[in-house]
Amino acid sequence: MTPNLPDSQRQIIYAKRPQGVPTVDCFRLIDVPVARPGPGKVLVRNDVLSVDPYIRMRMEEKDSYAPVMAIGDVLVGRTVGQVLESHADGFAEGDWVVGRLGWQDYSVAGPGELQKIDVSLAPQTAYLGALGSTGITAWVGLMAFGKPKAGETVLVSAASGAVGSVVGQIAKLKGCRAVGIAGGASKCALVKDAYGFDDCVDYKSPDFADALARAVPDGVDVYFDNVGGPILDAVLPLLNNFARIPLCGLVSQYNETEPYRVKNLREIFNRRVTMRGFVLSDHRDLWPEATRELIAAYAGGHLKYRETIAEGLENAPQAFIDMLAGANVGKQLVRLRRA
Ligand code: NDP
Repeated sequence: MTPNLPDSQRQIIYAKRPQGVPTVDCFRLIDVPVARPGPGKVLVRNDVLSVDPYIRMRMEEKDSYAPVMAIGDVLVGRTVGQVLESHADGFAEGDWVVGRLGWQDYSVAGPGELQKIDVSLAPQTAYLGALGSTGITAWVGLMAFGKPKAGETVLVSAASGAVGSVVGQIAKLKGCRAVGIAGGASKCALVKDAYGFDDCVDYKSPDFADALARAVPDGVDVYFDNVGGPILDAVLPLLNNFARIPLCGLVSQYNETEPYRVKNLREIFNRRVTMRGFVLSDHRDLWPEATRELIAAYAGGHLKYRETIAEGLENAPQAFIDMLAGANVGKQLVRLRRA
């Protein structure tokens, strides 16, 4: 029996499907009994929660690669936390773990749902961001589908965010010119000064198209697309022949009620471009190599990251809504418990 375990815990459940931009009443905070782990299971206290753009897709009854959430479901999301009680081989009380354990204070999980992390190498929260699934997404998309070669130009959208910031830093490590696209002058400054990109263009500025063309004088060989929509259209005429577009996400479109129609599609044909949508969970075979490289880059001081941390599970819905609107700098997290 775990000492000091409360009888009840907080969860956030899915309450209402949004039309366009989600509102806080799409979520509901409830109290439920803390579940106890049976044989082969562990009890995890979740300390920090990751809120991610893909959750918006799961809120909608649209065709998607991931299952849609049902009303009443606990919100999906990865957490980092500590094992409080273990009845599973390979896990002991006190182990730090990451898993998709949901928007809640405590979770019961099996070993297959958990990944042990080494908190002597990096802070716990890094395993939800640059050293976790967002960093691995950047590595897999860039290396497996962008196939960058030294000397090429790699352009990435949402460049100040969790995935985008890692993409540019890996591109630099591979000897490429890294150019970002981000919203606002301060985010562009961060992309250049903190993450070491060669340049960054503000898509909210009135001369975006011209500034983008000036930032890629040799054209674009890899466009790592996190956003889709009008930014994709602006990039397409700048691609070089045989360019690659790893299509990681469409965050500019998740809250839209009308689909955006790409105008410059013929550039993909003219320039014989390869565009490849990818989803991280399809590429588990690449995770170990990606993790090794990311940890080595971090240990060598070549992988920087930023976090925006909201306080308290009750503020997770607003943090999620704000992140979709670009209020986050770097990885958006929510602290559930003070250390
Ligand atoms: P970010 O940390 O990048 O946060 C989202 C960012 O999106 C905001 O900060 C904002 O930056 C930008 N954004 C919002 N609206 C727009 C818009 N209309 N036009 C341009 N940019 C916009 O999130 P993540 O790094 O977690 O995710 C980035 C992308 O990667 C998402 O599309 C996500 O779905 C995808 N993803 C895909 C995975 C996969 O397996 N394929 C796995 C993980 C993530 P700004 O202020 O610059 O506008």
